[in-house]
Amino acid sequence: MAHQPNARHRSEGESPALSAAEPIAAVSTPPGRGGIGVVRVSGRGAADIARHVIGRLPQPRRATLCDFRTSSGELIDRGIALYFPAPHSYTGEDVLELQAHGGPLVMRQLLASAVQAGARIAEPGEFTKRAYLNGRMDLAQAESVADLIDAESEEAARSAARSLSGEFSRRISAIAQAALDLRMHVEACIDFPEEEIDPADRAELDRKQGKLVQDLDALLAIARQGSVLREGLTVALVGRPNVGKSSLLNRLAGEDLAIVTPIPGTTRDYVRATISIEGVPIHLIDTAGLRDTDDPVERIGVERTWRAIESAGAAVVIESATDSLPADESLLARFPCGQPRVRVVNKIDLVAGGFQRRATDETVLPTSAKTGEGIEALRGWLLAAAGWKPQAEAVFVARERHLRALEEARLHLIQAREASQVLDLMAEELRLAHRALGRITGEVSADDLLGRIFASFCIGK
Ligand code: GDP
Repeated sequence: MAHQPNARHRSEGESPALSAAEPIAAVSTPPGRGGIGVVRVSGRGAADIARHVIGRLPQPRRATLCDFRTSSGELIDRGIALYFPAPHSYTGEDVLELQAHGGPLVMRQLLASAVQAGARIAEPGEFTKRAYLNGRMDLAQAESVADLIDAESEEAARSAARSLSGEFSRRISAIAQAALDLRMHVEACIDFPEEEIDPADRAELDRKQGKLVQDLDALLAIARQGSVLREGLTVALVGRPNVGKSSLLNRLAGEDLAIVTPIPGTTRDYVRATISIEGVPIHLIDTAGLRDTDDPVERIGVERTWRAIESAGAAVVIESATDSLPADESLLARFPCGQPRVRVVNKIDLVAGGFQRRATDETVLPTSAKTGEGIEALRGWLLAAAGWKPQAEAVFVARERHLRALEEARLHLIQAREASQVLDLMAEELRLAHRALGRITGEVSADDLLGRIFASFCIGK
């Protein structure tokens, strides 16, 4: 993976230089059995580790067939070694990649051999963190590495790849540079009394200011869509048994059915499935298990589901057209007010003479999971609730953190405009806007932020 090195100037929470970074090692392929497994080593001393594990230093960037050995000289496996001397590597440091057969035991032995030779086990995301600290990629690009790995739809993957290529960062940097230019222009005027500022100069300042806000708004709109692609929409699904919930989900997921993923485990156990509509992940919360219970374990699950419902972006209430029983009103009464809600009446194919709309103040969507009628409308409703708008422009993956920084920058640009009669204030607002943008790419960064970002990576990345 080739990344354009970025010149960075950090002024907040400067991180320690890593030129003499200790070597780290990790299994970079997923756990389990596979045709190939890769142990990656990075840092000063990677060459020595190569000499210990394979008995020599492979020629730079040449696939070299070698024997991999334990520290006591026993053969572990025969495989391919690749050596990338600094700075032309993923991390910008000396990197050694050992490709062996991908069995868990082989990987463990190979990693142990690298550790015996002087490496320490890498922390999650540490390779990418080093890539960032060594200027191989900026912070937004580093985050998109994780987003690309975690992408659940083609659209999400494409937008992460776009961010990784640096397109998003370039757009941000261009606006940051324009804010800096404008600030310098303003500062150049500060020493003159107001009446001496050339009206042409003043008009030019206003024009630049207007263009900045316009460019930022355009980027913010795209970033918001990128955030929808990444985060998706969480939907609480309500309906009595047999009204056709599963059938509707299958219909909604359509061709993407293969990626319907029930998510087991503890943290998201209230999520029944994630489906993808036009690439937007829709996480469905099953409310079937919501009932009063004395069982303490079950109660924890019920509580957790309620919390998820409270923060869900929308609710879909499904009834059957053949059923005289409406959805459980006592359940719905506990849903947050203001949460977008749609009432779906399914199985309309079974109603002789066609479906008759009941008078109601909520949106009612008649559907048939059997014939497909109404499914497009339901998809459209969900996408609208997610905030997804079909974009003319390519979308970049964006995180909540990016949106907040862009919104902060926008606020300062607006305040700069309001302060345009007081040049000192205007210059200060422009400085703050520039700084907010710098946080996205990591030109300005705080160490605790870096810790949080990279801790969410997988080990070996
Ligand atoms: P759930 O319990 O709410 O998940 O309901 P299911 O999706 O399992 O559906 C219950 C039954 O209703 C199944 O036999 C489905 O084939 C049938 N069903 C679901 N939706 C429709 C529909 O729109 N029309 C007809 N005729 N049958 C449906």
